[in-house]
Amino acid sequence: MLLKSYTKEIFRAKCNPGFQSVHCIAHLDQDISEIIPYLNTQLGGFEYFKDLPAVTFKNSGRLIAVHSDKIAINALKDEEEAEKILEWLKQEINETWENRAEITPSYESAPRPQIIEILKLLPRTNCRECGQPTCMVFSTLVAEGAKGIEDCPQLIGENKIKLEKYLNKFNLEAWN
Ligand code: SF4
Repeated sequence: MLLKSYTKEIFRAKCNPGFQSVHCIAHLDQDISEIIPYLNTQLGGFEYFKDLPAVTFKNSGRLIAVHSDKIAINALKDEEEAEKILEWLKQEINETWENRAEITPSYESAPRPQIIEILKLLPRTNCRECGQPTCMVFSTLVAEGAKGIEDCPQLIGENKIKLEKYLNKFNLEAWN
């Protein structure tokens, strides 16, 4: 087992303590730098930073950053959700460590979805029901992993299925 324990720190953004979401940093008791490129392969990292090393994963506006000595997660509902994600990650880290002989490490960032390909499949009515000023802005957020197709209430039918299939290729959803 590579990662045995960590200390969890939960906090609200100082600049806006009224925000409902919390952030979390897990301070790791073991150095996990060696496994980071393997984790990038296994979980389809969003961005890989060779020099640190570190890898990020994105999911519906949340960002997980895995460093050698800490894991940072933003925009969580509560401490329970933080615990759930941390335990999932701990398991993934340790399973990846056990199986590393069969895994090819990756030192690259993931390919990104094309904004234009997302936009083509949206209704393009600029109705703003998603809270964004235009479908183009919404497409950009989807490409970054900050929004998901469920955030566009106008998107239904065949185009919804097509966009889901397209986005599934990019590992924007690391966990559910
Ligand atoms: S809800 Fe959908 S159709 Fe309406 S502006 Fe947002 S992305 Fe476009």
